[in-house]
Amino acid sequence: MASISIQHLVKKYGDGFPAVNDVSIDIADGEFMILVGPSGCGKSTLLRMIVGLEDISSGDLKIGDRRVNDLAPRDRNLAMVFQNYALYPHLTVYENIAFPLRLAKKDNAEVDKLVKEAAATLELEEHLQRKPGNLSGGQRQRVAMGRAIVRQADAFLFDEPLSNLDAKLRGQMRTEISRLQKKLGITTVYVTHDQTEAMTLGDRVAVLKRGILQQLATPRELYDNPGNLFVAGFIGSPPMNFLPVEVDGTSAKLPFGSVELPADKAQKVAGRGLLIAGIRPEHFEDASLTDGSGGSTFQAKVDVVEWLGNETYAYIPFEAPPEVAKQLHQLEKDLDGEAMRTQLVITLDGASRIKEGETAEISVDASKMHFFDPATGENLT
Ligand code: ATP
Repeated sequence: MASISIQHLVKKYGDGFPAVNDVSIDIADGEFMILVGPSGCGKSTLLRMIVGLEDISSGDLKIGDRRVNDLAPRDRNLAMVFQNYALYPHLTVYENIAFPLRLAKKDNAEVDKLVKEAAATLELEEHLQRKPGNLSGGQRQRVAMGRAIVRQADAFLFDEPLSNLDAKLRGQMRTEISRLQKKLGITTVYVTHDQTEAMTLGDRVAVLKRGILQQLATPRELYDNPGNLFVAGFIGSPPMNFLPVEVDGTSAKLPFGSVELPADKAQKVAGRGLLIAGIRPEHFEDASLTDGSGGSTFQAKVDVVEWLGNETYAYIPFEAPPEVAKQLHQLEKDLDGEAMRTQLVITLDGASRIKEGETAEISVDASKMHFFDPATGENLT
């Protein structure tokens, strides 16, 4: 196993905008690193550069102590686990796992030992004589990983391994990959556009946009302290709400009314003119269910209510001034249109009796509010 050091990596195709633009990431030995971002952000290109399937335009790539920029893929000792598992349907599980060892001309006794060890680790012993067609998706994934294990690769690389599966199987496989990665303790780089996979699997997550690393942090840090509007909008479902705001003293003026901010937060943003406030849907509450009286409540007319049993989504439309609308429109494009920006989405307790068309008293946890610079998108708090 090994660490992977990515230093100032650049990939240029022709003379266009770099697909990967000066990205630096240090992946520790045994770490599960996620590369995430919307389509076209350069995550697959970065992974392919690590594996050696794509030339590096500039920068340094090290696996352990070796600089591998110019090494052929087969000499990098990395194992790519492909989306469709790339198993040979006519071979048994045993022979599928043994395949890289046969290629390396290992003798039968060693092949047997390594295959059986891998099968034990992956709980595939009972299935060694079966063909891939008779296995479940999870078992196939384990066979693909078995093939990587017997090679004693320094790291596993995954490129969107679950994207072709239905939601239920995807959930099961995600848990499986997580369990195995922990058990094996092998350095792993995993590309996905799915923020749930990013949040649940990664020790750390690298968020990319148009080839540029936006933030590299633990899932919790990304959620609690997103560095900019893009990361804030990308991580979280339903997504964070973005609203125009002006802060005067400790009072934050939102489209629906003013809320009182904690002094330390207010200090960072007071008097800076028009900003973008970020508030996660779950940081609102139906004030009639809480004792949330005081400065952090406002009244708003609820447009649509969706009751899901355990929780309720309420939608409240608002208008944004042109400076903010422009930035939010750009954000929506950057996020691949996944975000909803013309209305506030709030998650209320399932016990809430708020009705469509009603003016409701809503409270907000002002200590959890973020404030973004409308020009740069930077999180100011
Ligand atoms: P997706 O999730 O859609 O696969 P991605 O984030 O993995 O996207 P990449 O496939 O790495 O993105 O592509 C990054 C950028 O580089 C895109 O703008 C893409 O069009 C461009 N690109 C990728 N491969 C090539 C190529 N062989 N020649 C020219 N441009 C390319």
